[in-house]
This record gives sequence, C-alpha cells and structure tokens, in this order.
Amino acid sequence: MSNTSLSPRAQRLRDAGHKLTNARLTVLGVVERGGGHLTSTEILNRVNAVDARIGRASVFRALDLLTRLSIIRPTYIDSSITPTYVLLPDGHHHHVICTHCNRVIEFEDCGLSKLAADLERRLHVQLSGHLLEFYGLCDRCSAQERSAFN
Ligand SMILES: [Zn+2]
Ligand SMILES: [Zn+2]
Ligand SMILES: [Zn+2]
Repeated sequence: MSNTSLSPRAQRLRDAGHKLTNARLTVLGVVERGGGHLTSTEILNRVNAVDARIGRASVFRALDLLTRLSIIRPTYIDSSITPTYVLLPDGHHHHVICTHCNRVIEFEDCGLSKLAADLERRLHVQLSGHLLEFYGLCDRCSAQERSAFN
C-alpha cells in the first residue's frame, strides 16, 4: 500500500511506531466507515465481511491498540456491558445521551481547547483527546413527559 492512500489515523498509527498490519488497517477502516457507535461484535462482523482470515483475537488487539492511541474510545450506553467504539475525530468526540430512550445525539463543537490547555499546564499532562458525554432527556422524551402530566 502506498503512503498517499493512508488515512490520517493510519498515519498516526505508523508514526507511533506500529506496523500497519492488514488486521489493524481493516479494523480502522471499518470504524472509520461506520462513523458512529459500533459494538465490538458489529466491528468483528464487518471486518470478517472484508477479510474472513482476520481472527477475533486480532480484531480485539487492534481495538485495544487504537484505544491506547486515542484514535477510538469505548463508550458505555445504558450501562450495557458491551461498549460501543467511537472515533475521536481530531482527538475528540462529543454527544448527548438521552437517559430515557438511549438516543445518542452527536455534536462537533465543544469549545474545550482552552480547558485542555489549562489542564496540560496545571496537571503537567499531555492530552491526546477527550470524550464528552452529556446526559438528559431528548426533545421527543421531554415532550412525552410534559404531555403525561397534562
Ligand atoms: Zn457519540
Ligand atoms: Zn429520548
Ligand atoms: Zn472537543
């Protein structure tokens, strides 16, 4: 594979000193194409649809590695035991989770770059990303709640 066809995230993987194995690139590609939240089972199925030779253990190792590099992050919705993996585009990911219907509403802008810079200075840490989760009622559920009392 030529370097020009690498996604920025695959380049990060390589720049961090990791081999771009077929399993790693396929897992990354599946998560990138999936966009939003995917469980490990969904990722496994999609990876196998692309290349059935990639085993379950390789998929889980690749997910662990991508998580360590802050390229993806597991999130837990509805206190389920199975996490769904989300991409951290440009190192961050934000959403609101409705506590009633578990709908996930994604949003782009967080305005947290100042806070991140403050934290780095104050805590002497080097941040590579963040995952921001808000909880509350979505518009549909809050409308339902209102009408239930009327
Ligand atoms: Zn999300
Ligand atoms: Zn809702
Ligand atoms: Zn952010």
